[in-house]
Amino acid sequence: MDIKSQIIKLAEELNIQKIGFTKADDFEYMRKSLVDQKEKGHNSGFEHKNIDERLDPKLTLPSAKTIISVALAYPNKLQGRPDKTEFRRGSFARASWGIDYHHIMQKKLDALIEGINEIINGLDYEAFVDTGPLIDVVVAARAGLGFIGKNGLLVTKEFGSYVYLGEIITSLEIEADKPVEYGCGDCNRCIDFCPTDALIGDGKMNAKKCLSFQTQNKGILQEEYRQKMKTIIYGCDICQMVCPYNKGIDSHFHPEMEGDPELVQPELIPFLDLTNRQFKEKYGHLAGSWRGRNVLQRNAIYALANANDKSAIPKLLEIVDSTQNQVLLGSAFWALGRLVKEPNQDMINLVEDRDTDDEQAKQERENLLYLWYSR
Ligand code: SF4
Ligand code: SF4
Repeated sequence: MDIKSQIIKLAEELNIQKIGFTKADDFEYMRKSLVDQKEKGHNSGFEHKNIDERLDPKLTLPSAKTIISVALAYPNKLQGRPDKTEFRRGSFARASWGIDYHHIMQKKLDALIEGINEIINGLDYEAFVDTGPLIDVVVAARAGLGFIGKNGLLVTKEFGSYVYLGEIITSLEIEADKPVEYGCGDCNRCIDFCPTDALIGDGKMNAKKCLSFQTQNKGILQEEYRQKMKTIIYGCDICQMVCPYNKGIDSHFHPEMEGDPELVQPELIPFLDLTNRQFKEKYGHLAGSWRGRNVLQRNAIYALANANDKSAIPKLLEIVDSTQNQVLLGSAFWALGRLVKEPNQDMINLVEDRDTDDEQAKQERENLLYLWYSR
């Protein structure tokens, strides 16, 4: 068996759903697109900063000959429902169900490298999940795992776009795979259904407009995004849910990727009561926890307003009364404006008396009082 077949067999044994190979040649053909993206201000800021390193694998590993691209399929449906309770629930996007995929993928890549080392020793490797210099989807597309859809995601034939990607740059020479044909055709569903018009149409996006970025962005969000999040408190799945390639796809290969319905559809009001410690204990293993408790609690406040959950009013008043966090304070002011149409005098007094030095929170407070007085 040649080395490529042995690695493919290893990947199967490791429960890796897809593997492909491409030469470690540069991705110079992506330069114009990356520069354009940056110049237009369409980057989220989470991208690797050095464009040259994003384009040339040899700047990461000088001896690089091949890039091995790997995909792990993740579930589209929860196995079970959360309990029915008095509380309205929010949700985490699918890519944040289960244990943070960065850890799962990193373990797979390490195991794959270990397995290859047992076949051939003395090679060089660098393995990356998401935060490496190379662009995962571009590598995966050239390695033949799938095509890049108009939603900017890798679309595979077998698992749709519900895949996590990782790659290994190695000094091992392996025959490259061929890219697969572009498959979007005339379909525009992801573009049409994107609530913020983040998708440009050619596989690129204005990442700053994407709800996936906005739900991770710190501070008080622009009003447009607060509303469009609906009740999702982390990420966004819409451009995947509407994709015909994802129809009927629901992969359950990795028990550690299964979401606990109670956690990934959290009760929103109790979520606002979590201390930092409780948050870390309960949610720390999810990819969606990486920005910390405050960002998700802010989103939970927006979600309660979007769900028109009037039972949240006492909790929001409590936040106005006691929080030291100006983002939560500003968000609570906004949510109260959505939920309370006829405030009583106690509410007005509370808001009027709640002083803050934070300009944005102050503005939200003024907006709220203006709204209440003008009704
Ligand atoms: Fe639009 Fe949501 Fe897709 Fe982002 S994740 S591009 S906001 S549909
Ligand atoms: Fe392509 Fe349509 Fe899927 Fe968008 S929804 S990625 S256009 S197939």
